[in-house]
Amino acid sequence: MPNAVRLHDEKAAVFSLEKLVWRDGPLCPHCGETSRLGRLSGQSTPIGAWKCYACRKPFTVRHRTIFQNSHVPMHVWLQGLYLLIASQNRLSSQKLGQILGVSVRTAWHLKTKIIAGLAVAGDDPEPCNGARRIDRVVRGPVPDDPSPPQPGQAVHKARYERFLKAIEHLADSRSDVLFLEALHMLVRPSRDPCRGSGETRRFVEQQLELSLFDDGHRQMGGCRNGLRNGDES
Ligand SMILES: [Zn+2]
Repeated sequence: MPNAVRLHDEKAAVFSLEKLVWRDGPLCPHCGETSRLGRLSGQSTPIGAWKCYACRKPFTVRHRTIFQNSHVPMHVWLQGLYLLIASQNRLSSQKLGQILGVSVRTAWHLKTKIIAGLAVAGDDPEPCNGARRIDRVVRGPVPDDPSPPQPGQAVHKARYERFLKAIEHLADSRSDVLFLEALHMLVRPSRDPCRGSGETRRFVEQQLELSLFDDGHRQMGGCRNGLRNGDES
């Protein structure tokens, strides 16, 4: 069965990402351990939390990706990435925020990080080859879940329905492939020697912040008011 990216809720998105990043099984990003690892599963434990019993440190699959240190759930990131790819980055932060159910500022932050991450990955002179790709995106109705409703499930469902509705108009036959390529670029395995472009990525993000906040009139001192409707597109 082919690997697949699922976007409908947090567990599905995190598990998809784990399959993509840890092609040979989970890996501690701190010490490289591959066997003495355990998935954490407490009531209050975030989905996707692991512990390494070699170095005793916790980790998630987001480590050393643009998704690290973000409070935004992984399924929101992936839906945002899909929407940006399908719209060729033309979706405004306001519209993106409406679909994803997040603030304009959060949507703008996602957009900046994604564009910067892809710009840096695209500049990489030697793309990392040989990685098996997740080769399918599952976009369908939310599957029936026999377990009791989880907190936030209704919010996830409503968000996913807005997402499906939006991509009806935005996506074409190439969107899945482009999305998978973009995701692959953003989550190259942490052992990969061609990573380490954090400095470059931060620089690109800074430049993007300046340009995205520019309201287009290039007025001195006026660029910080730049979160009005669609002005960043
Ligand atoms: Zn470790």
